[in-house]
Amino acid sequence: MAELNPFRIAQQQLDEAAEALGLDSATHEALRWPMREMIVTLTVRMDDGSVKIFRGYRVQYNDARGPTKGGIRFHPQETLDTVRALAAWMTWKTAVMDLPLGGGKGGVTCNPKEMSEAELERLSRAYIRQVGRILGPEIDVPAPDVNTTPQVMAWMMDEFSALRGYNVPGVITGKPLPLGGSLGRPDATARGGMYALREAAKVLDIPLEGATAAIQGFGNVGQHAGILAQELFHMKILAVADEFGGIYNPHGIDAKALAEHVRETGSVTRFPGTDSITNQELLEMEADVLFPAAIEGVITAANADKIKARVVCELANGPTTPEADRILHDRGIFVLPDILANAGGVTVSYFEQVQNAYNFYWTLDEIHQRLNQKMTKAFADFYAAYQRHKVHPRLAAYMVAVSRVAEAMKLRGWV
Ligand code: GLU
Repeated sequence: MAELNPFRIAQQQLDEAAEALGLDSATHEALRWPMREMIVTLTVRMDDGSVKIFRGYRVQYNDARGPTKGGIRFHPQETLDTVRALAAWMTWKTAVMDLPLGGGKGGVTCNPKEMSEAELERLSRAYIRQVGRILGPEIDVPAPDVNTTPQVMAWMMDEFSALRGYNVPGVITGKPLPLGGSLGRPDATARGGMYALREAAKVLDIPLEGATAAIQGFGNVGQHAGILAQELFHMKILAVADEFGGIYNPHGIDAKALAEHVRETGSVTRFPGTDSITNQELLEMEADVLFPAAIEGVITAANADKIKARVVCELANGPTTPEADRILHDRGIFVLPDILANAGGVTVSYFEQVQNAYNFYWTLDEIHQRLNQKMTKAFADFYAAYQRHKVHPRLAAYMVAVSRVAEAMKLRGWV
């Protein structure tokens, strides 16, 4: 069984980049570990009157380039090591996008699907009462991720503001619009992925118009990816899967109608007119583009030689293990790495921070234009490194990102 601890994987990915860059050992060692981490125990009153205990985490990985930034996940399998890995990936993500931010991440080990709205509100507020002391617009700014919504952001912003005694919208991004959220944030991760995919398709000479796709994960990111892939490129979505199972239709699946079905039933399964398939079958499907849009560690040494897509557009964080990266690269499958492919979310989060700081809000058109510019430039920087160093795509993206963070650390006199 391959080593699948996400933090070990994050360290391996850094090690490979450090070696390729000839990074000095002090910088390398400093980057192998989070700068600061907080583990908390939360007591939450449940609707039946009992009190339940939850573990929560916030990891501030590196702030050499700016305040740490990254989402909060509510997930039953969350551990300190998953959060550390995700915090490291945020550090490389903000750097490869050239945003003036560092990287961080948070999480609570819980199953939000078994909790009521009121219980989730109490959990969100309890998390901020503990972790709030190390958050702030100039320190560390959370955002949505797996199972955390704009409503969760609203409760967290309210709790933080109550603790401070004044409104602090800039403490968190991905807020609802009336509380200082940004237009274009809900579909930003998927939209950024489409812009990056468009750039990749150009250099790889793959026509996107009418291309086929398979999507793993149909939460916020997967749903918007499906809708945008159809809207922007008229792609044909052959298959979609979530944690409950998958569906397949060789004639294409309408993403908007499927999103509606998920709102009603809670899953993609049993969508009319489709056959059921497993997650493994979806990953191994004959499709031009595979969009992993769920969680980490799904493309591994065990299935990488069966992947048939031409491009893997990583909308999830950490879907591909280092061994799988090498196998896919050897087989000529192009992986558009997560730190670039899914960076549209944090990029529009950054725009949200800027708008909060100025208390002046941009139009949707402005958001889309700026996101397009940022993604296009980041892709060009990444692709130049890919061509210059002749390495696999993730390593090229890491070389850009790690050298930027290392340069900031050096300029500050840390190393
Ligand atoms: N959770 C998203 C990510 O993994 C967005 C983070 C943010 O907006 O800060 O990139």
